[in-house]
Amino acid sequence: MNRLTGAGGRCGESAELRLAAASIHRGEEPPVSGRGGSGTVFVTGCGLGCNFCQNYQISQNGMGRVVSPAGFAAITLALEDAGAENINIVTGTHAAPAIVSGLDLARAWGLTIPVLWNSSAYEDEAVLNLLRDRVDVYLPDLKTLDPQVGARFFRAPDYPRSAAAAILRMLSFRGDLQWKNTVKAPNDDESPHAASVLARGVIIRHLIIPGYLESTREVIKWFQRHARGRALLSLMTQYTHCNRGEKAPTGTAPQRYLGREEYERVMEWLTEYGIEEGFYQEPAPGRDWLPDFSRTNPFSSRLSRTVWHWKAGNAGQEDYSAESYRKI
Ligand code: SF4
Repeated sequence: MNRLTGAGGRCGESAELRLAAASIHRGEEPPVSGRGGSGTVFVTGCGLGCNFCQNYQISQNGMGRVVSPAGFAAITLALEDAGAENINIVTGTHAAPAIVSGLDLARAWGLTIPVLWNSSAYEDEAVLNLLRDRVDVYLPDLKTLDPQVGARFFRAPDYPRSAAAAILRMLSFRGDLQWKNTVKAPNDDESPHAASVLARGVIIRHLIIPGYLESTREVIKWFQRHARGRALLSLMTQYTHCNRGEKAPTGTAPQRYLGREEYERVMEWLTEYGIEEGFYQEPAPGRDWLPDFSRTNPFSSRLSRTVWHWKAGNAGQEDYSAESYRKI
């Protein structure tokens, strides 16, 4: 699909960058949230089509607003001014050319904090080459290495081959973990988050799908073989049967949370495969945390503080004057 012609790709997005929200987010891994919170920028659209996507309103249903590269740059500077530890670009693969233009402007206008690329890893070499000198920390998912699981849940049987190759390339760019002191959060001296955050590196995320533990085991084995000692592993147990994507692919998402026994079996595999670098979530079944991007703060106020939202006024330069955020 040549989206420069204005035609929509698989997720309906053209080549224009659209955003849904930008916020200070405290719900990411400790070395991402730090004390100041991560400066998340939620991009509208997505190249995959997970049938349990918690962000379905923006990934599949198009909620968002067009933002120019200058507007994007201004939003990142507003996040830094608000105390963000980093700029955390969520699901921006399909909009990479516009985003890198915005990042280049942001750096020229004085952005100093690290840039994180938070993606599904369903991205090719051309996109990764655009990111290479602009992204400091990669947060790719490794959703599965099983093509049948890729077809059933993510609308992409080629996902395993593509994502594994992409993550190996990210490791070749940033397979050397580097840390920096956290910024001090305004009015939040007691924050329990880490005192240091990643300045460079790779964190590989994996969401455990209830009933598909062999898929998780393969991912842990892959991590042991290819990434142990060069990246952090983040195991997520928050699978929730949203089942709300209107363009849901074939297959049916499991209609339950991860079981305690399943969770404990995965923890045993971490020991069995000698994985010591990373994080895991304690299972906490529930739906309260699911975002709603129609609200000005899509998350709970405990987790997130909105800096920009698609409903709130004009996007781009009119929202945040680029000049007003210039630092040098
Ligand atoms: S969960 Fe799947 S559909 Fe949703 S944003 Fe992530 S990769 Fe895209």
